[in-house]
Amino acid sequence: MIEWTKEDALNHYRIPHWGKGFFGINDEGNLSVYPEKRVDGPRIDISEIITEMKNQDISLPAVIRFHDILRHQVAEINKVFRKVIDEADYNGRYCGVYPIKVNQMREVVEEIVDAGAKYDYGLEAGSKTELMSVLALNENKRSLTVLNGYKDEEYMKLAMLGIKLGRKVFVVIEKYSELPLLIKVAKEMNVAPLIGFRSKLDTVGGGKWTSSSGERAKFGLTTSEILKGVELLKKEGFEDSLKLFHFHIGSQIPEIRSFKEAINEGARIFCKLYQQGVPLEYFDVGGGLGVDYDGSKGGTESSINYDMEEYISDIVYNLKQICDLEEVPHPNIVTESGRAITSRHSCVVVNVFDKIDMVKEDFNTNIVTGEHILVTNMRDAMNDLGKDNVLETFNDVSQFKSEAHSAFKLGVIDLREKAVIETIYWMTLRKIQELVRDIEWDELPEDLKDLDTRLCSKYLCNFSVFQSLPDTWAIGQILPIVPLTRLNEKPTVNTTLADITCDSDGKVDKFIGIGDSEETLMLHDLKEDEEYNLGIFMTGAYQDVMGDNHNLLGRLNEVHVFCDDEDPLDFYIEEAIRGISSRKVLQTMQYNDQALASAVKKELDKQIKRGKIQPREGVRLVDFYERCLRGYTYLKHE
Ligand SMILES: *Cc1c(COP(=O)(O)O)cnc(C)c1O
Repeated sequence: MIEWTKEDALNHYRIPHWGKGFFGINDEGNLSVYPEKRVDGPRIDISEIITEMKNQDISLPAVIRFHDILRHQVAEINKVFRKVIDEADYNGRYCGVYPIKVNQMREVVEEIVDAGAKYDYGLEAGSKTELMSVLALNENKRSLTVLNGYKDEEYMKLAMLGIKLGRKVFVVIEKYSELPLLIKVAKEMNVAPLIGFRSKLDTVGGGKWTSSSGERAKFGLTTSEILKGVELLKKEGFEDSLKLFHFHIGSQIPEIRSFKEAINEGARIFCKLYQQGVPLEYFDVGGGLGVDYDGSKGGTESSINYDMEEYISDIVYNLKQICDLEEVPHPNIVTESGRAITSRHSCVVVNVFDKIDMVKEDFNTNIVTGEHILVTNMRDAMNDLGKDNVLETFNDVSQFKSEAHSAFKLGVIDLREKAVIETIYWMTLRKIQELVRDIEWDELPEDLKDLDTRLCSKYLCNFSVFQSLPDTWAIGQILPIVPLTRLNEKPTVNTTLADITCDSDGKVDKFIGIGDSEETLMLHDLKEDEEYNLGIFMTGAYQDVMGDNHNLLGRLNEVHVFCDDEDPLDFYIEEAIRGISSRKVLQTMQYNDQALASAVKKELDKQIKRGKIQPREGVRLVDFYERCLRGYTYLKHE
């Protein structure tokens, strides 16, 4: 047994770096959650949650939500803002809002509203449908409701309905023509609207969402439109309504410098407008506060070079400085952070149900009389392999393999010989991999550098990348993936992951690493009688809600976990939400499950009439088909 400790696993999977104190490993070697970020506080073993789920007949794959983490994040952003505002002698207040597009699950939004109640934390909507949800959920009259996205007359009317309910509903003007429309609706409904202007700043955010900002941005008003808008409001007698100044430079902003520039630019515009007599009260910096997915503290696309406190200090101090210089009162500060609030609270748990190895050592490669010379050459090359002829052997076996391909096509070697040659080829590569393991990267011949990737096993996981990790597929987002058990045991298998869709894009082959991403993930060998589950972490922002039903694989089972220090296991499952059934997924594609079942039944009846099936068996098959319709879309495992 090779020495391997919990500490090795923590380092290897970079758990402290991305987990920020919420995740650790217990003495059994199982991945655990520390909802209070204290090692001596309550500790939830994720495997225990899975056992409890099984008792309730909730199978994997599943989403697990840790509501305590969600609440903690809401409290954190509010507490840090209050602390910094206090230290800076800043005169405005912090009035944050949560943009529900990041995760619209009702339970998630309700939890955020509840945890944010004492801070008057509000909500943001970006579409009519989101607004309908927000109007019902944000009952706190002191908190803000901020409305972004392109708007039609109905959207405006819904917003005015909110004002009539006594809420602080800000309509943010994204393009100029929305302003006359809003004025018209406000007059018709006889309400004084609350208006925000979104500015198209020159500052660009950087990172994967750079196009959210700058002169070519989809949303926002140019300087001339802002001035024209102020004139229009004056002319129509609505000049008191423009109270909020807004910008948003993109999501997951990699460098703190971009925020500094945006705050400075935005603050100047804010002050100039105020000096012209616009009664602005709120300075809304949008979203963009990032999350360090790989824990490398900057330098990679999945990372950021700052933390929440630094972000908040930069906003408060830069804004204060410019307002003081311009002699303008400090406005209230609004942020629309979504990713930073929700990403860490949920994870996807998938079971590894099989693997595909490149090297199939169980195939019989023994000498048979009269075998082709290519087979003999291949075997000799493998047997002669030693420390001194690694590259030479690699070149030889590569050549023999390609010759074998041609020979097979010409009918010169048979199927068995082809199989033997391929097997010996991969066995040789495996031996080479062992021989060069200790050679420094720079010294390693170029052709041998990708051996780990070429030889790695594919672990087959019961999930769909398109449903559960859409950003991994779409934009190469890298997320932390960690086995939930055996973390006190050295992982020995280089792997990449494949999902159960029939799509070759349904895979994960980029993993968090130190600096650069890694092309393989080290996992444990699979045991016949023991399940092996992986946790895919930081999926609470966007991933949870953007997934699609590729291959008709639908939404996952889901459990909501709360910490309870009094409980022997430190947790309880507050709610379990069943994933979507095959029937429901089929319905979204216009199938009627009853019609499907009766079509199958009709065909079975015909077979019964022909005497091909016993009536009893026919009934059983119809029952089985109907049971599958009601079942989960993922692989069933006992
Ligand atoms: C998407 C979006 C947000 C949320 O951004 P995060 O980076 O997730 O915090 C905030 N405001 C607007 C206008 C958005 O479009």
